Amino acid sequence: MTLNLSCGKCKVIQPFSGVPPTCEVCGWVCSTTNMRAVTRSKRTDNSNYEPRNTGSGGGLFILLLILGVLVFAWSRLSSEPSDNNQAARAESSEASLRECVEPENPYSEGTGHYAGYEWAERNGSSCSSSSQSFNEGCEEYATQESEYEECEAENKK
Ligand SMILES: [Zn+2]
Repeated sequence: MTLNLSCGKCKVIQPFSGVPPTCEVCGWVCSTTNMRAVTRSKRTDNSNYEPRNTGSGGGLFILLLILGVLVFAWSRLSSEPSDNNQAARAESSEASLRECVEPENPYSEGTGHYAGYEWAERNGSSCSSSSQSFNEGCEEYATQESEYEECEAENKK
C-alpha cells in the first residue's frame, strides 16, 4: 500500500509505504513524534525506534476508532428496542386510562350481602360478623373500593 504524504525531509509530497508510513525516497518516517520533533525517548541515540512506537500508537488509534464505531453501533442497536418499549408503555398507559367504576352495591335490598355491603360502605372494611353473607357483602365492598382506588391511582400515573 502506497500513500502520498508530505515528507518532512524531502519537503514535498512523496510516496510512503509500510507501517508506519515511510518515505520511499529518503526513508523519513511520517509520525506525529517526528512532526513535533520530540526526541524524548529512552533510545534517543537511535531515532529509528521512535516510529515503531508511534506505529503501535497508530494501530491503537485505529483499534479505538473501531471500538468507538462498534460501541456506537451497539448503543444504537440496544437503544432502539428500549425506545420501542417506551413507546409501547406510553401507548398502554393511555389505553389503561379507563373510567373507574365507583363501588356500587350489587345486591338486592334486605339480603345479608346487601346489609354487609352497606355496612362496609359506612364503617370501613372490618368484615367479621357472625353472618357469612354479611361478611361476603362487606368484603365485596372492600374489593370494589380497592379496585376503584387502584384504577384512580393508575390513571394519575
Ligand atoms: Zn522523503
